[in-house]
Amino acid sequence: MQPRFVDLHTHTTASDGTDTPRGLIRKAAEAGLAAVAVTDHDTISGLDEAEAAGRDFGVEVIRGCELGVQGQYGEIHLLGLWLPRDCAPLEAALARLRTLREERNREMLEKLRGLGIAVSYDEVLEEAKGESVGRPHIARVLQKRGIVSTFAQAFELYLGYYGAAYVPRSLPSPEEGVRLLAGPGVVVSFAHPMLIRCPAAWFNEIVPRLKEAGLGAIEAYHSEHSSRDERFCVDLAARYGLGVSGGSDYHGTAKPGVRLGRGKGGLRVTAALLDALKARRA
Ligand code: AMP
Ligand code: ZN
Ligand code: FE
Ligand code: FE
Repeated sequence: MQPRFVDLHTHTTASDGTDTPRGLIRKAAEAGLAAVAVTDHDTISGLDEAEAAGRDFGVEVIRGCELGVQGQYGEIHLLGLWLPRDCAPLEAALARLRTLREERNREMLEKLRGLGIAVSYDEVLEEAKGESVGRPHIARVLQKRGIVSTFAQAFELYLGYYGAAYVPRSLPSPEEGVRLLAGPGVVVSFAHPMLIRCPAAWFNEIVPRLKEAGLGAIEAYHSEHSSRDERFCVDLAARYGLGVSGGSDYHGTAKPGVRLGRGKGGLRVTAALLDALKARRA
């Protein structure tokens, strides 16, 4: 039998991706993917449309979400996979996080104004098609207005950690984040751990802590992970009895080098990996 492939980390217009949920699932079908997890930042608003498209195009859609939490070495990202349809406490928490996002976005616009760059929040909302708004949307406005010549430059000069208009985001603690997502049938995965600039030994501290809070997997396969990173993550997961997840972190044209299901070209996440995660859901 031909191996089948999946992608367990994707973004849509509900957050900072550029494909609508339906468009994303259509692309997944065209790419021959068997299953896709839709994991927008701080919102689950794209999931119903994605699921409906999944039925139309014959793609298994996994309800997901990506959450940023504050770690010792910067942001840690968590993926919730198989989120329930009705999850009032999670939805309330995500709504609160989006409010904090808006406050932060407005503070960054205030800082830009101080630098002589007037961007209104309406312009940013115009750029954002969904309810989770962030720096990529502000970057696109700056680019369209010709204030920067590239998307990357918007981060270098203004929006990145060292940028002149940067404002940190207030985030939940790692344990809080895991507990928010965790629940019956949900698998919480530690997203792209190797993007964190930390000593390797720190994972032996943070991973057991997160497992205690309900972590179920580590995202070993990711567009930005080298094969060495993949091995490190697979070992880490084995050491702590966790599952392994994988996905491209596809954002459409917002991340031009990253293709759905294929990442930068070499990524392959098998349906067997998905089956192993499903076995852990109980
Ligand atoms: P936010 O959630 O508003 O803090 O924005 C975070 C998103 O901005 C990330 O998911 C990236 O897609 C993007 N981003 C962050 N830093 C950079 C950078 N230096 N260059 C390009 N994109 C970036
Ligand atoms: Zn994103
Ligand atoms: Fe992420
Ligand atoms: Fe992501």
